[in-house]
Amino acid sequence: MIYRTLGKTGMEVSAIGLGCEHLDGKPYEQVRETIYEALDHGVNINIMDVFMPGREIREHIAKALGGKRKEMMVQGHIGSTDINKQYDISRDLPTVQKYFEELLRIFGGYIDFGMMFFIDSDQNYKDVFDTGFATYVERLKKQGDIRYVGFSSHNPKTAMKVIETGLPDMMMFSINPAFDMLPASEYVLTHLDGDHIDGGLFRGIDPQRAELYKYCTQKQIGITVMKSFGAGKLLSPEHTPYEKPLTVHQCIHYALSRPAVASVLPGCQTAAEVKDVMGYFSADEAEKDYSGILSGVRNDFKGSCVYCSHCQPCPAGIDIASVNRCLDIARLDSANISPSIRDAYTAASGSGCIACGNCESRCPFGVPVIANMEAADQLLR
Ligand code: SF4
Ligand code: SF4
Repeated sequence: MIYRTLGKTGMEVSAIGLGCEHLDGKPYEQVRETIYEALDHGVNINIMDVFMPGREIREHIAKALGGKRKEMMVQGHIGSTDINKQYDISRDLPTVQKYFEELLRIFGGYIDFGMMFFIDSDQNYKDVFDTGFATYVERLKKQGDIRYVGFSSHNPKTAMKVIETGLPDMMMFSINPAFDMLPASEYVLTHLDGDHIDGGLFRGIDPQRAELYKYCTQKQIGITVMKSFGAGKLLSPEHTPYEKPLTVHQCIHYALSRPAVASVLPGCQTAAEVKDVMGYFSADEAEKDYSGILSGVRNDFKGSCVYCSHCQPCPAGIDIASVNRCLDIARLDSANISPSIRDAYTAASGSGCIACGNCESRCPFGVPVIANMEAADQLLR
C-alpha cells in the first residue's frame, strides 16, 4: 500500500481506500468478507467512505471493523438520510442531527472526516452556508465529534466556492477520465442516467475542472475520489464513451495523477473486487497508462499536460508529469508558491533537463516539455 498526505489535515491515507455504497443491502457475511479483504491486503487499507444512511449497513460495517476501528479513518456524511426508504439529502437540522449522531454512536463516538453531503449547486450552497447547517458542522469539529471538516461535490464551480469559505479541510470529488472531459457547465450525474456518458461533448480536460484540482493543491485541500469508474460505464464495452473500455487500473491511475488527490475510494461489493482493485499496486506502467485512450478524442487544449507519464523514461531521471504538475500549480499564483510545491519539484526534478527531446516526441498531447522544464527551473528552483 502507498500512503499519501491528505492536504492540510496532515493525515496519511491509503492511496486506495474503500467506498462502501455497494455493500448496502448485502448480507453481513459479504460485508465482512469485503472489509476483511481490504484490511488484510498487505498493509491495512485505512480510509473508507460511509455515506449510506441506513442503520443496518452502518452497523454491518462497524461490526466487521470490530477492533480495527481505530486503524480505519471513516468519511461520514452529514445530511445523508433515507427518509421514505430512499437516499435523500436533508438540511433540516433535527433530521441531520438524528442521522449523524446515530453514525457517531455506531462508529465509536467519532468520525474522522465529517463530510457536508452533496454540495452541487448554488441552492445546495445556500442551504448549507445560509442556515444553521455549517454552524452545526463547526460545532461538531469543536466538540471533537469529527476530526476534520470535508464536503462532497460533483460540480467544480460550487466546489471552488465551498473551499473559499475556509471551512473545509478536505473534499470528496467525482473524478474520472470521462467526467473531466465534459465542459464544467455539464452536470456529470445526468450523464450516468442514460446509456453512456456523451463523448460527443469531449473537448479535452476541462480547464475549470483542472483549475479546481490545482486550486486544491494551493489551498492544501486534499481530495478523495468517488465515481472513479463513472459508475462502471468506463469499464463497459457497451457504455464507454471511448473507442474501447478503460481498465480498473487505468481509471485509478488517472485519478491518482490529478493534483491534490490523496486517495481513490472505489466502491467494491465483494472480496474479489477488492483484490482486483488492489492489483493496481503490482501493475506495470504500461497497464496503468491511459494516454492512448485520452489521445484518441478531440482535444482543444493541446499543450496542456494530463500527467499521464507516457513520456517516461527521461535520461536525466526527471519525473516529467510531476514537474509539469508543480509548474501548473505554481503558475496559479507565482508570487506565493508553497514550500510543499517547491519540495515536490525538488523530489521530481532529477539532475536537470538536457533538452534531448525524447519526451516531446513521445507525448501524445503536444506538451512543450523542454520549455516547461526551463520555466519550472526558473519558478521553483
Ligand atoms: S527533454 Fe529533458 S525532460 Fe525531456 S526526456 Fe530529455 S532530459 Fe528528460
Ligand atoms: S508531457 Fe505529455 S506524455 Fe508527459 S505526462 Fe504530460 S501529457 Fe503525459
